[in-house]
Amino acid sequence: MNQADSARLAAGLERRGYAPAARPEEADLVVVNSCVVRQSAEERVAGQLGALKALKRARPQLQVALTGCLVDSQIAALRRRFPQVDFFFPPQDFQALWERLAPGRPGDEGCLPQKPAGPTAFLPVISGCDEFCAYCIVPYRRGRERSRPLAELRCEAEALARRGVRELTLLGQNVNAYGRDLPGRPDLALLLEELAALPGLRRLRFLTSHPADVTEGFIEAVSRLPQVCPSFSLPVQAGHDNTLRRMGRRGYTVASYKRLVEGIRQALPEAAISTDIIVGFPGETETEFAATLALLEELRCDTVHGAAYSPRPGTAAARLPDDVPPEAKKERLARLEALQERIAGEINAALLGRRVEALVEGQKGGKWWGRTPTGKLVFFADEADRLGQLVEVELTMTGPWSLQGNVQAPAPVVAGGS
Ligand code: SF4
Repeated sequence: MNQADSARLAAGLERRGYAPAARPEEADLVVVNSCVVRQSAEERVAGQLGALKALKRARPQLQVALTGCLVDSQIAALRRRFPQVDFFFPPQDFQALWERLAPGRPGDEGCLPQKPAGPTAFLPVISGCDEFCAYCIVPYRRGRERSRPLAELRCEAEALARRGVRELTLLGQNVNAYGRDLPGRPDLALLLEELAALPGLRRLRFLTSHPADVTEGFIEAVSRLPQVCPSFSLPVQAGHDNTLRRMGRRGYTVASYKRLVEGIRQALPEAAISTDIIVGFPGETETEFAATLALLEELRCDTVHGAAYSPRPGTAAARLPDDVPPEAKKERLARLEALQERIAGEINAALLGRRVEALVEGQKGGKWWGRTPTGKLVFFADEADRLGQLVEVELTMTGPWSLQGNVQAPAPVVAGGS
């Protein structure tokens, strides 16, 4: 989300006559887009701001702005903590920055096409979240759900496609909540349908889905629209109902989550499922954690993002005793990762010899790399320039984190593509 916000911010700055600087040392303005989802992310931001303090001492005319989730309503406290920052503005409140840079000038009309860095781009479609999970800072920092109007999104998507983007990922903290705050209540399925009709866009993705908000109708839309990748990011967070209850994860249980995954796999047998897990949440017993491992063993997700719990001040969970010792969190995370490495390795090994479609995003270590519709990383060697192409790769080697193969012919154009 921050990457997407930064790209839109850059587009707005360029529209106002700014050009990117190679390094902060050469910049007139540095905008730091912060993340505080975990303690380590917050520490990184503080480190960056520390470096900017020295820079500002040497070049007092340098303007420093801070945005993102570190910016809460306590601006006075932030000002004391980071005196090197000239201007603070809440996440996605770009208007405040435009006003500061050019007071009185009319702001953006909403549609803010980015300069894409390659064949893929992110499109934030809804910001904020209404869920208030106990551990999460997002609703406090990014506010309640705010969907962007469909026409505005179509405008940005069209501009991105004209600039060579072939794959667009629609983003939201809870992307399936899209539209419920808009007049007429359009939904994510309708948005996907509209964007799938645009020429040039070959793939559409969506990220991240709260398990309680993925409906049968939505799964049907994903299976009906050929451009929409069968790839679901469904954070379960824990595999025991007691942990889920303490986490304030509303609207689903372990059993209903399993039914959801089953429903997706019935409609889309090739679908990839990724999930997020927090280990060491307050009160997590060994039995509860074992249930999480058992769930992952049973569901066999393609990707699992594990993270050790760290309390975020201001959230409901921060008031609970952080009673799982750091060594236990580390050990549980290691067990989770080892399990997933084995499962992902087995899932990918079953693909050996098969042909997969990949959208080529770049080169690394002398090989082209791209992603399959299910989000798997594929490498292949080829003399030809394949950047931005959809190619078919016959897989000759697989591992838990990536696939390798030989390129075949370019993949056929799908309906609605150009
Ligand atoms: S649904 Fe996601 S973004 Fe919203 S509060 Fe829960 S964890 Fe945070």
